[in-house]
Amino acid sequence: MAEGKAAHGWAARDASGHLSPFNFSRRVPRDGDVTIKVLFCGLCYTDLHVIKNEWGNAMYPLVPGHEIVGVVTGVGPGVTKFKAGDTVGVGYFVDSCRSCESCGKGYESYCPQLVQTSNGVDLLDGATTQGGFSDVLVVSQHYVVRVPESLPPDGAAPLLCAGITVFSPMVQYGLNAPGKHLGVVGLGGLGHLGVKFGKAFGMTVTVISTSPSKREEALDRLGADAFLVSSDPEQIKAAASTMDGIIDTVSAEHPVAALLELLKPMGQMVVVGLPAKPLEVPAFSLVGGGKRVAGSGGGGIGECQAMLDFAAEHRIAADVEVVGMDYVNTAIQRLERNDVRYRFVVDVAGSKLGGAA
Ligand code: NAP
Ligand code: ZN
Ligand code: ZN
Repeated sequence: MAEGKAAHGWAARDASGHLSPFNFSRRVPRDGDVTIKVLFCGLCYTDLHVIKNEWGNAMYPLVPGHEIVGVVTGVGPGVTKFKAGDTVGVGYFVDSCRSCESCGKGYESYCPQLVQTSNGVDLLDGATTQGGFSDVLVVSQHYVVRVPESLPPDGAAPLLCAGITVFSPMVQYGLNAPGKHLGVVGLGGLGHLGVKFGKAFGMTVTVISTSPSKREEALDRLGADAFLVSSDPEQIKAAASTMDGIIDTVSAEHPVAALLELLKPMGQMVVVGLPAKPLEVPAFSLVGGGKRVAGSGGGGIGECQAMLDFAAEHRIAADVEVVGMDYVNTAIQRLERNDVRYRFVVDVAGSKLGGAA
């Protein structure tokens, strides 16, 4: 069998989640594949759940990273969307069946055969996929998006997962209408982009947080209209029945009943955070006001491109702390402690990667 391209990255080897240099190889490009030199890759809380095997599905060695901005270095036969030199993005998945109802409607992220960018299984050769904390990717052009030139490549990287994950349900559930009131629960990587998109859509945005220390930044820097501390029943009561929709980005177990109180009758809560343990949703919190709870996972490729174009138009990028790969284990610990404003992004191209040959 032909050898693929040598790749150098950092991988977790076990549920400690500690990353260390790792050499592997990318597949031989297929028709329609583009080869991408990775520039920047964001650190999403999903990476942390997965490398620590919190969801019980980790396949080690595991190179995380699915908020990738890079530059096309090679295009194979059949590539029509991109050429060498293009700045591009890759998000949470790199393939899907392309024939199911979800794929047909542009909701690829709901394809039952979705292939995740990292810790996924390739549909053709069964190989484990490895993510963006590595120097090179080989991906079908259909799962690659164009990153508008006006966006900074480091601040754009988190848009590829965090950005689309909040943008997609906002559009899907009509939480993108001027004058409507949106609540964003959890001011982290996903949440701070929820605030930015909400304001760009002309909405009133309230942050619901466990961290009083984030109040000033939320209001002054991110442009939120109000800030509630979720553990303070008085603050929650004062804002009861005021919100058209809520996006819940929290990564850990947390009480939901108080959040549902914030919704207007027939209001919509969308869960995007993925705590390993089930959330408790009391029937009484839903039934009285005819309230609705939905989930949302990522977004389709077309939606992702629309999100990037919207972000460029409205000058939306993530607030990032750019670090070298040699800092990644510290970044993981800090993300776990809720000590990041608001996304770590690894300068992959500027880092030493891979192990001794
Ligand atoms: P993050 O940057 O850590 O943000 C999560 C925020 O939740 C924190 O900043 C914190 O905000 C709040 N929080 C943390 N622990 C909490 C607790 N015990 N109780 C209440 N609030 C808490 O993480 P992220 O990268 O945005 O990811 C958030 C979640 O979304 C993760 O579970 C991730 O796996 C999931 N995710 C889902 C999708 C999808 O497709 N649905 C895509 C990407 C990520 P405050 O300090 O403001 O309280
Ligand atoms: Zn993610
Ligand atoms: Zn499909």
